[in-house]
Formats: sequence, structure tokens, C-alpha cells
Amino acid sequence: MKHLSKYLLIAFLCLVASQNRIFSQTYLVDTIQYQGDVDYPINLVILGDGFLVSELPVFRDSAESYINLLFTVDPFSRFKSFFNAFSISVPSNEQGAAMHPDTLIDNYFGSTFNYAGIERLLVPTNNTRITNVLANNFPEYDQVFMLVNSTKYGGSGGWVATASLHEDSKEILLHELGHSFANLADEYWAGIQYAREAINMTQETDLEKLRWRNWYGDNNIGLYSHAESTSWYRPHQNCIMRYLGEPFCAVCREGLIESIYALASPFKGYEPGITTFHMSSDSVLFKVELTHPEPTSLVRVWYLNDEMIGENVDSITVRFTELKDGRNKVIASVTDTSSWIRPYEDETYHKTEVEWVVYTWGVGSEQQIKIFNHSAISIYPNPVYDYLNVKILGEQIGEVFIELYDSQGRQIKNSIIQYPGRHSLEMSNLEAGLYMIRISMDGNYLSSRIIIKH
Ligand SMILES: [Zn+2]
Repeated sequence: MKHLSKYLLIAFLCLVASQNRIFSQTYLVDTIQYQGDVDYPINLVILGDGFLVSELPVFRDSAESYINLLFTVDPFSRFKSFFNAFSISVPSNEQGAAMHPDTLIDNYFGSTFNYAGIERLLVPTNNTRITNVLANNFPEYDQVFMLVNSTKYGGSGGWVATASLHEDSKEILLHELGHSFANLADEYWAGIQYAREAINMTQETDLEKLRWRNWYGDNNIGLYSHAESTSWYRPHQNCIMRYLGEPFCAVCREGLIESIYALASPFKGYEPGITTFHMSSDSVLFKVELTHPEPTSLVRVWYLNDEMIGENVDSITVRFTELKDGRNKVIASVTDTSSWIRPYEDETYHKTEVEWVVYTWGVGSEQQIKIFNHSAISIYPNPVYDYLNVKILGEQIGEVFIELYDSQGRQIKNSIIQYPGRHSLEMSNLEAGLYMIRISMDGNYLSSRIIIKH
């Protein structure tokens, strides 16, 4: 009986597993470029439609060559270290794309030309399958590309940047990436239904208010009206958002960089990992790990309590003696000073900071008295031999929570004492050394280093 139920359970699990395979199918995920854990950089994912099983190696090669091309194009060339890239090999039963949305073929993602009546508009129409494949194979995606196995010219933007394998399609994909990744508008006249205020499209003619005013008159950036609708303007005459084969203009390039920083901070990591803590040693090493554009344009500045204490270093040591009693602030500030970014005076979108709050209370051999929430607290003597006295004076009645930490930050003991009054805490059973006492009162706290000697 026991064996039978076990067998039934196994059979049931097999059934669940096989059903799961139907609904959460996994495919081969190839790494094209890896700069770090998927939680950190921007993840580009390439899907393919209309590739037969036998053609999947072609898909993978195409995906790789698209990614390689992408990182030769500005501004992506400088920000390669901010991106991972992967391809997912999904086979289709039928090759290529449909010629019309009314006559879809048996490709996997429902890609079709002639979308919305525009012949070159190539769109993968089966969004459910796209989202399922991503959810089951690479849920951490940031930007998705679709390569469609057809040599007919075509592509589209939307949330999935799509292009065929036509020889100009690499350029199409860059153009479509401008739409998908940075929400850029077309700089050719695509029709009134696509006209909108965007990074690179406007109806504003007041040069003081113009969104690309910081570029105006430079890098061939101006205010050029669309011949087909003269109340709409573009910033450049020859941007890839107008003509394939051209680079991104300075305005679009800046827009793409803003999108990169919106998705990936230059901070890869920092230490200490906890940003609020008590200084329980003579010094602390603060350290940042950064992702740099290439060449780097990041300027690093360190502050202690708003005073600059370091520049263009990745780590800095702060000594206990440099801290004031109570609350201290250590900031690592990183700014991209690239000439490709021209923020308005009051904007600092490309500035990123890590802030640590470090609490301390001075150590000394004399009795210390601090006014704290209308109470005077004394902790003495210091150094301590057998007993540490905590005296709290004041008119209010209440309880304080006392914790003692060793130099490694481990809690050694804790107790609750009533105030006002004086309490003696036994220390003779503790090893000689440096300790931190923390007193919490009414949601506030203070801490002090004490030295135990025997
Ligand atoms: Zn442009």
C-alpha cells in the first residue's frame, strides 16, 4: 500500500511535470554578452520568429552579429559594460512571416508584414507567446528584439524592436531600438497619427523652452520643420531616426544615455552593504564598485558631513576621530560628465549617490553627559573595570533599552532599565577590549564606545 501510494504520487508528479512543459516550455538560452548578474545590468534578449529547428543556428549567428553591431554604434559603444545580451532559440513550424495579418502562417510569434496596411510594417502579433516565452526563459529582460526569418525589408518598434533579415535590417533594428528603448519619435514624417511631443519631436518654437535648447546651434542641431506638416519640428536633418545608415543625432544619443542610466546605475556594488550603522571600530573602509562608460566620464567625489574628503578614488577610510558625536553622513557621489550629456542647470539625472549614516558618540576617560530628549544621560567610568554605570536624570519616567556590542558588531548583552535613576551593569565577565553601548529611548538612540579593562 505504501509503495502503491508512492507510485501514484510519482505518476502524479510526472503528469504535472509534463503539463508544465506544455505551458512553461523552456528553450535554449545562449549568452552573447555577459557583464554581470542579471539583476544588475540591462538585459537585452533576442527572440527569433519563422526559424525552423534546422535554422536555429542561423538565428543564433544573426542574433550575435546584431548585438556586435549594436555596440559599434554610439552611444551604445561607450556603454557596452552596462549590458548583458542573450538569445532564446524558439523553433517555428513554418518558415518566415505572413504577408498579411489576415493570413497568418504557423510561425511561433505570429509575425506578419503589412501590419495596419503598411507593407514594410513587420509585427509579431502573438504577444501572449512572447510574454510566456520571456516569463519561462528569461523574466529579467529589459529590452526585447525579434528577428524574423525573411529577407523582405521590414520592421517595427513597440515594446519589441522587430526587424527582418533584409540586408538593411540591422539599421532598421537600430532605428526601432530608438523607439523601443528611448521612446524616440521618427524624424521622417510618419503621418499625423505619430506626431507627438518627444525627445526629438516638438511643436515648441521658443528657443528658451525648446527641449533640446542645450544642443541648439551645435552638432548640426537646429529646429527643422517637417515639410509635410510645418508646425512639427525635428532636431537634425540626418539622424538615423530619419534615414537608415546615419548615426543617432546628439539629441537622440543623449536620450538613449538617459534611458541607459534609468535602467542601470553606475553603482555595481558598495561597502559597507548596510547604509545605517554604528561605528564600533577605529576606522571604516567605504568602497564603491562602478561600471564605467568607455572611455570613462564618471567623476567620483566623497563627502563626510558635506565636506569633500576624496576625489576620483573607489574607496576611502574614515577614522573614528574624524566623526562628530551623533549622526554622520558619508556620501559617494558619481556624476557622468560626458560631453554627450548636457543637463539643464538644475537637473542632475546623471548623478548617482550612495549615502551612509554613521552613528557615534565620543569616547573619553571622563564622565560624559548628553542631553537627550530632556534627559541627561551619563555613562561612566570609561575605561570600565567591573561595573559600568548608566545614570539618567530628568523629570519624565520611562524605560530605556540598553545593548552592548563587541568590536565585531555582535550583540553581547541587552537590558531594559527604568529612568530616572542610576543602574550598574556588570562587565567583569567580559573580555578586555573595545565595546559599543547603545541606548534607545523614545525611538531615538545614542551610542558610545567603551573600553573594558581588567
Ligand atoms: Zn535624432
